[in-house]
Amino acid sequence: MADLPHKATEIATGTARAAGDVLAARPVTHLCAAVLGGPPAFRRTLHVGQPNMPDQKAFLKRMQHILDSGRLTNWGPMVQEFESRVAGIAGAKHCIVTNNATTGLELAIAGMGMSGDVIVPSFTFVATVHALWRQGVRPVFCDIDPVRHCLDVACVEAAITSRTTGILGVHLWGNSCASDALRDLARRHDLKLLFDAAHAFGCQPGRPDGAYLGDAAVYSFHATKCVHAFEGGAIVTDDDDLAARLRLMVNFGFAGEDVVTYLGTNAKMSEASAAMGLTSLESMHLFFDHNRENYTAYAAGLADVPGVELMPRSANRVHNFQYVVTAIDPEQAGLSRDELVAALRLENVFARRYFYPGCHRMQPYAGLSPRAGQTLPVTEAVADRVMILPTGMALSARDVARVCARIAAIVQHAPKVRAALRHCTDPRLPDFARAADTAAGPH
Ligand SMILES: *Cc1c(COP(=O)(O)O)cnc(C)c1O
Repeated sequence: MADLPHKATEIATGTARAAGDVLAARPVTHLCAAVLGGPPAFRRTLHVGQPNMPDQKAFLKRMQHILDSGRLTNWGPMVQEFESRVAGIAGAKHCIVTNNATTGLELAIAGMGMSGDVIVPSFTFVATVHALWRQGVRPVFCDIDPVRHCLDVACVEAAITSRTTGILGVHLWGNSCASDALRDLARRHDLKLLFDAAHAFGCQPGRPDGAYLGDAAVYSFHATKCVHAFEGGAIVTDDDDLAARLRLMVNFGFAGEDVVTYLGTNAKMSEASAAMGLTSLESMHLFFDHNRENYTAYAAGLADVPGVELMPRSANRVHNFQYVVTAIDPEQAGLSRDELVAALRLENVFARRYFYPGCHRMQPYAGLSPRAGQTLPVTEAVADRVMILPTGMALSARDVARVCARIAAIVQHAPKVRAALRHCTDPRLPDFARAADTAAGPH
């Protein structure tokens, strides 16, 4: 601990100089954090999930083509091309694209015949669980492993009952869920296996893994995801029958001009979205490489910051590095995760606490498993500590170094930061950090 302030100072000055900051010439004081009265690290705001912009010319050319052709939607040529590209990248036999991943999950759940209970992690984006509930399926929450934040196989096995019809795993942060083990478990108990792969587009697990896509997997092409289509999703599967069913279900269940054979919906992707998807795909490896460079810069910049731990590089062969995941140890950092997130807002760095507080504490699931608090200890601990940092094309490695320098400075001055936050009324503070302020109330 003794040499810590020195190291943090080095990081702060080194970065400031690299970024051409005038502050570099001055000795580093407590003013190197905005919450303590210094200037913010950035004039613009850095967000998690800022859209990666693809080549505008290529996109506009596709849009011109769409407008000239008059074909706007209903499984047009752009959508068909996008589907075959996505299937190729996923290594799946079939791909059915959808208007977003949430409807994709709902359709997969219905199309696979999931009912009764399905085992799902609580530590995921709430859409994973909403998709089950909206299909009349009861989510049974299982804990995660503390390293990769994916379903803990032993917990899944222990949770299987006669009502269980399937497992909905999440390849969280692009890490591969324990797919092999889950597939074996699913086979032994005759369960369906679906993966929410919203974070994992383009990722390839560490070794060839036939179970990675389960019976089906769903990607998201939402604007905040690494590769996007404004809004969009895709279901990939090797199952011919399931694919045929889903193909009808995305289009109201129409099997002919007036023949409806399934309960379907309108989950079609438009040609405009597919045009964005195709253009975004063309830059996919550029995005991945850029994210990897940012990740490396985060690893260097946070290496000596106590209590701020970067999730190690995953064992994936290919990784999109879409999320920069850190865990904050409040004892070592001297600040809670929430305090650090709040202090960073004043730097115009909008770090986020994903997926707090866990779906089991959100509606309508909060009353569902009253003991979930005790049965999900890892979920609860992880949800209290995880902080996601901005990355993507909107940030350079130099920006990342500057973010890290500010984190180092904030941690270095933790007691002062904590005191300053107590009196801070800056509107950029997240609502959870303004609680004391609201309690005082407008008089
Ligand atoms: C983004 C996301 C979704 C939802 O995707 P949409 O395309 O926005 O519907 C589902 N699950 C996870 C884990 C996500 O991150």
